[in-house]
Amino acid sequence: MNLQEYQSREFFKEFGIPVVDGAVASNREEALEIAKKIGLPVVLKAQVLVGGRGKAGGVKVAKTEEEVLKLADEILTMEIKGLKVKKLLVAKAVNILREFYVGFTVDRVSKRNVLIVSNAGGVDIEEVAKNTPEKIFKIYIDPIMGLFSYEAKKASQRLTEDMNIAPKIADIIEKLYKVYISLDGNLAEINPLAVVEGNNVLALDSKIVIDDNALFRHPELEALREPTEEEKLELEAKSKGFTYIKLNGNIGCLVNGAGLAMATMDLIKLFGGDPANFLDIGGSSSPEKVASAIEMITRDKNVKAILINIFGGITRCDDVANGLLKALEMTKVDVPIVVRLTGTNEDKAREILKDTPLIYTDSMVDGVTKVVELANAR
Ligand code: GDP
Ligand code: MN
Repeated sequence: MNLQEYQSREFFKEFGIPVVDGAVASNREEALEIAKKIGLPVVLKAQVLVGGRGKAGGVKVAKTEEEVLKLADEILTMEIKGLKVKKLLVAKAVNILREFYVGFTVDRVSKRNVLIVSNAGGVDIEEVAKNTPEKIFKIYIDPIMGLFSYEAKKASQRLTEDMNIAPKIADIIEKLYKVYISLDGNLAEINPLAVVEGNNVLALDSKIVIDDNALFRHPELEALREPTEEEKLELEAKSKGFTYIKLNGNIGCLVNGAGLAMATMDLIKLFGGDPANFLDIGGSSSPEKVASAIEMITRDKNVKAILINIFGGITRCDDVANGLLKALEMTKVDVPIVVRLTGTNEDKAREILKDTPLIYTDSMVDGVTKVVELANAR
């Protein structure tokens, strides 16, 4: 689970990492109010869970009140890498003298946490690692002993020999480690860690990713989750007992079993179609579950045709057929539905669906061919 920058920086503050004054805003008026309180100039930052907001135009400095309003409007109507910007961090703008990278993450090869620092701060660390790996310094941390102070000092010395700054960086590294460990992080990073006038060192960006498998230990963090529209759908599906992931194509898929769902999507692609979603209805499908899955698929306005591909084992084909009848009663489905039901009770299923407009097929190839034809014709 990713935390937003404005949430991460609160944890940084709590653990004593210096950050600039700032607060989060949802509209231009709030942005202006915050700017007035902390004083101009301010930096306005899009709160979306992707990196590279700066490059995408989501980080802007405003010198006047008019600029705050104008840039707030601009950023709040932006979409960055497909994500709508709904919130804005308004923070005191500073004059940056130097930028460093400091972060902790999990190294799967050594099975340890690793401290990563770099002189090349402010830019995408993956790029630095790829193009100029010599600019990256790593310390693997003993899982039992944790981070030693001398390790933090050593890392800070790699960044600068200026003794007005290095001890401050070492201190921040130790505090960042505490954030990382206390929150069960997969990642805690400061990029850039900036040197500003008066030899002050500040975290200008804050990023924390929590290990999902440890979330049960942090109910307070679960409350910070800000799901995107698509994640909301995924969570809703989960609560109804099936798995749904939205994709960008126009063929809705309802399948039982993740493997069959993948194979179905592959086959649709192979026959020149494009799946609108991944949907695994799972085993032992009740009619209700099938009905809610159909309802969710049809909410996606891109869907031009639906393919239902069920291999009846534990899932009984007649249950699925009854669910389909129910779905057709409950929601008006105005796209063609191709059904391939095979396995347990398939004869019963065929009988149930006899007088419906559903297009019945026996084979997967046949079903996929038909649904691609139908979707492409609409
Ligand atoms: P990211 O691109 O998503 O990582 O967003 P950042 O928070 O790192 O901001 C991008 C860049 O904006 C930083 O690397 C800085 O160079 C710049 N930036 C952020 N805050 C300030 C500021 O207060 N003053 C100035 N001059 N630049 C800033
Ligand atoms: Mn950054």
